[in-house]
Amino acid sequence: MRAVVIHAPKDLRIDNFPDPAPAAGEVRVKIAAGGICGSDLHYYHHGGFGTVRIKEPMALGHEIAGVVEAVGSGVAHLSAGARVAVNPSRPCGTCIHCQEGMRNQCLDMRFMGSAMRNPHVQGGFREHVTVEAAQAIPIAEKLSLAEAAMAEPLAVCLHAANQAGPLMGKRVLVTGCGPIGALMVVVARYAGAAEIVVTDVADAPLAVARKLGASHAINVATHASNLDPWRAGKGVFDVLFEASGNQAALRLAFDLLRPGAVIVQVGLGGEMTLPVNAIVTKELKLRGTFRFDPEFELALRLMGEGRLDVKPLISASLPFEQAVEAFELATDRSKSMKVQLTF
Ligand code: ZN
Repeated sequence: MRAVVIHAPKDLRIDNFPDPAPAAGEVRVKIAAGGICGSDLHYYHHGGFGTVRIKEPMALGHEIAGVVEAVGSGVAHLSAGARVAVNPSRPCGTCIHCQEGMRNQCLDMRFMGSAMRNPHVQGGFREHVTVEAAQAIPIAEKLSLAEAAMAEPLAVCLHAANQAGPLMGKRVLVTGCGPIGALMVVVARYAGAAEIVVTDVADAPLAVARKLGASHAINVATHASNLDPWRAGKGVFDVLFEASGNQAALRLAFDLLRPGAVIVQVGLGGEMTLPVNAIVTKELKLRGTFRFDPEFELALRLMGEGRLDVKPLISASLPFEQAVEAFELATDRSKSMKVQLTF
């Protein structure tokens, strides 16, 4: 079979790849759709992010869905023809964090298309993947495989919302309107937020956020003063989801947050300098959020029951043979929200 493999920055190839039959407890999935994530783009442009670097060729991709083709022995709940989303997480289940119910913090996590481990865990931009049966989650009949491939980023956002606590009636600020920021708008709206303001430095993604239900979508590069109404008193927002990983976006928010507000840092930003006195004196609560666990199946259920609609985010679908073109398109924020590969 063929796969979309990163060899070095800007060296993305369609390579032949081994295609093992499923062993006991495994299933082989014929992949239909795979979404390009920000981390895939980091591997493509820079060969990694932070201290994580590719040391060997690696198939990219971890937002994938397809159809079960074959099942190994001992797999009772899936059979050939089942439409599934593939959960890219494979926690060990036995380490202290798995046992304490934080499987996303597993000491021995195998996450598809990640160079954090050596050898790297190969990703899902392939014609077929063979995974543990528990990673293949059946989807609702009315859900398309393209939507099912959105389960992973949606799960990230559901997990982030869980870090914030209840959002019912709250005023929510989302900084950064890439696919994750846009999905935070969808999730905050579903969770009952009374007002959702989203900021970015590009107009195109803000237009998508308006369609998704943002109350206000503000370009802070050109119209920063439009945020002034939320500076009243000590600030107005109850919750910030910081989805840009950009220090300027986070710092901008400190004047807009009311005392006691919760900051959920969703974007990875490397080293940042923060106004600690503002955190102390306004009693702000700074929280991290990393990947997801049960939220993957929740994401599929909410989409499958028609409670959340992610279709407006899918801005283009290209055949995987045109992966380089697709990655370049995904990089262009004036044209793209979520770009998917088809297989
Ligand atoms: Zn573990």
